[in-house]
Amino acid sequence: MNVRGNLMPELNIIVQKYGGTSVGTPDRIKAVAERIKTYTAGGHSVVVVVSAMGKTTDELIALAAQITKKPSSRELDMLLSTGEQVSISLLAMALHEIGIDAISYTGSQIKMITDGNFSKAKIESIETDRIMKSLTEKRVVIVAGFQGIDTEENITTLGRGGSDTSAVALAAVLGTRDCEIYTDVNGVFTADPRIISSTSKLKEISYDEMLELARLGAAVLHSRSVEFAKKYNIRLHVRSSFNYEEGTIVMPKEEMMEKFVISGVTAKRDEAKITIWDIPDQPGIAARLFSIMGQNKLYVNMIVQSTGKDNKASISFTVLKSDLDKAMGLCEDLNNELGGTAVEAKKDIAIVSAVGVGMLSSYGVAGRIFKVFSDRKINIEMISTSEIGISCVIDEKHADLALKVLHKEFIEAEQQ
Ligand code: ASP
Ligand code: MG
Repeated sequence: MNVRGNLMPELNIIVQKYGGTSVGTPDRIKAVAERIKTYTAGGHSVVVVVSAMGKTTDELIALAAQITKKPSSRELDMLLSTGEQVSISLLAMALHEIGIDAISYTGSQIKMITDGNFSKAKIESIETDRIMKSLTEKRVVIVAGFQGIDTEENITTLGRGGSDTSAVALAAVLGTRDCEIYTDVNGVFTADPRIISSTSKLKEISYDEMLELARLGAAVLHSRSVEFAKKYNIRLHVRSSFNYEEGTIVMPKEEMMEKFVISGVTAKRDEAKITIWDIPDQPGIAARLFSIMGQNKLYVNMIVQSTGKDNKASISFTVLKSDLDKAMGLCEDLNNELGGTAVEAKKDIAIVSAVGVGMLSSYGVAGRIFKVFSDRKINIEMISTSEIGISCVIDEKHADLALKVLHKEFIEAEQQ
């Protein structure tokens, strides 16, 4: 994406994105218009990105499913892009009603050019001329999120939740550092409030923590939007459109005031574990196994191999539960061929993770986590670590307890 820096600082541009629930009803759209008015009154030029109203995108997918099990990907994107077209025009009307000049644009009208991968297109460039012209005419610019066009002018979509990415990309090409993401929660929390009542809202979080949390099951933002924000140094303010409270700022870790050892805990419950016991401990076996997984488009997450003994080794790894049967079939074939003892599947697992940039500069975090688990007799079946995260596969029945104890021992104790 071609980014030329702040185009016109005097315009004081702010980019705001409103998600589906924030524009879910006509009253909500009117409330969003009133909020935008406070920004124009405060001297901002506002660029607004909106998602489709409420559950519109789901409904459109269900509609297509009534026609065909296998919709053409081009036509599905054509269909899904209509949701955002409804909300941008209604929001423009709501602004007109309260005396604010506003104009809505589809992705194609502002030349949001993407590659040609329908349903998961990547933004390649955005033309700013039309937007800048409207802003200099003192209009609020409203852009349909989640959609673009490829170089042949086919309508594309960016993947579910992709409006976040549209907003951040716009902030980048317009050269503004601030992008507000309005949603129905007050920000990014230390844990899922449905499981942990004492969860608290983070004031700040780094890009890497957000990406790690998303990878490990706690997706607040479209991951690509965070990658863009990181690349173009944009501060994302995740906040609620239902009140005026400050939310959470997603920012470079260097600018953070406080760095917690653990800033969030999360559990991922959509994966299952496969173990292949006692296969030959020799070069090429793991390569074989995981090439087979890859060729069959099976997503593999954690991998653990036991140390070889008597020329035998065992390998455990996790795949999506929805892929388990397919993966098991392939593993059994390979196991028969290699003369391993058995292939075992375990569905009732959870991957419980702790994420925090503070881990980069602390010792003994892993030991403390394992101690917390062992004190509660929670058995750890697999472990994996990254620079700022530690994940443990445990029995699913202990997942909530594991989250609670981690939250208590690290977050409640350290963030107070
Ligand atoms: N409307 C799209 C969806 O529901 C895009 C978005 O909400 O960001 O996935
Ligand atoms: Mg949505």
